[in-house]
Amino acid sequence: MQDISQFYPLLNTPKKAVITMHQKPDGDAMGSALGLYHFLVALGHEVQVISPTNWADFLDWMPGVKTLIDYERNREKALKIIEATDWLFCLDFNVLHRTKHMEKPLTEAKCVKILIDHHEQPQVAAFDYGISITSKSSTCEMVYDFIMASGHAQLLDTTMAQCLYTGLMTDTGSFRFPATTASVHRAIAHFKDLGLDHRQIHEEIYDNFLESRLRFIGYALLNRMEVVYEYNTAIMYITHADLHKFDIKTGDTEGLVNYLLTIKGIRFGAICIDRDEERKWSFRSKGGFDVNTFARKHFEGGGHFNASGGRSSDSLENTVLKFKQVIKEYQNQLQ
Ligand code: 5GP
Ligand code: MN
Repeated sequence: MQDISQFYPLLNTPKKAVITMHQKPDGDAMGSALGLYHFLVALGHEVQVISPTNWADFLDWMPGVKTLIDYERNREKALKIIEATDWLFCLDFNVLHRTKHMEKPLTEAKCVKILIDHHEQPQVAAFDYGISITSKSSTCEMVYDFIMASGHAQLLDTTMAQCLYTGLMTDTGSFRFPATTASVHRAIAHFKDLGLDHRQIHEEIYDNFLESRLRFIGYALLNRMEVVYEYNTAIMYITHADLHKFDIKTGDTEGLVNYLLTIKGIRFGAICIDRDEERKWSFRSKGGFDVNTFARKHFEGGGHFNASGGRSSDSLENTVLKFKQVIKEYQNQLQ
């Protein structure tokens, strides 16, 4: 993988570009993809964003979202575009299997592949150009840096700023996680100078749910949470029936895991959701407990030091039992 700076000169010749991100894109994946989309369009390229799966309703306000292709719903059209593209940008993930059913076509695609990402342990051999910085707050911050260093910084506008602000806000937990550096605040100041209305974005993302989702959270906190003080760990599990009962959709469970860390003394929060094809874990920690390594070692996952995810194909009950067994190995680290 060559350094991303080697790619900047290529931006001057109009090309076909595909931008993709991890399955079930969150605010950072969607924001970085759309921010880059508007920048490449402004440079005169022909650009298509393809999401591996659907996404949460609270991202549907984002500028350009209506142009997206959902690979699971429109596979044939997406495959034709992937086959014809010159460039493939991979944002907010670093191993191709995180694009679910797109892994094979993306692996086989003959185009130039470019990585922009902040997760641990990138699959660098899969990319021609790229940048991977795990200390970065968000992929949106990295797309901002890309635009600033590309030689076309003057093209940054409020539309791009809206997209990039979204991921900067969501991936930093509204600017409170340790990766919220001075350069994050400088980027936001730049967006404000361009005229960005940040209040509108906050409302679109955080104040846009149905009543049933709030009742679901209350139900889950009351009935589905266990606190293991011995290991300073809190666990939550959500059954398939729970999801059905409250009509829970993509994105409705996002952020639920963060409640676990609000309990005094809790250093490790884990939530397991019984999805159709798999049991999906979200892990969060405070301080020195490395949930990226934990997810890789025990639950086929990965991510960041303090925020990661994983999966299991076993039953919900067995998956949660396994979790309770394996945390015993970490008693020293968790105390
Ligand atoms: P979340 O819990 O919000 O789904 O994910 C937390 C972080 O871990 C995100 O940065 C996400 O991209 C990453 N992540 C979630 N699930 C997986 C997974 O199965 N594999 C890897 N490598 N990363 C994941
Ligand atoms: Mn991210």
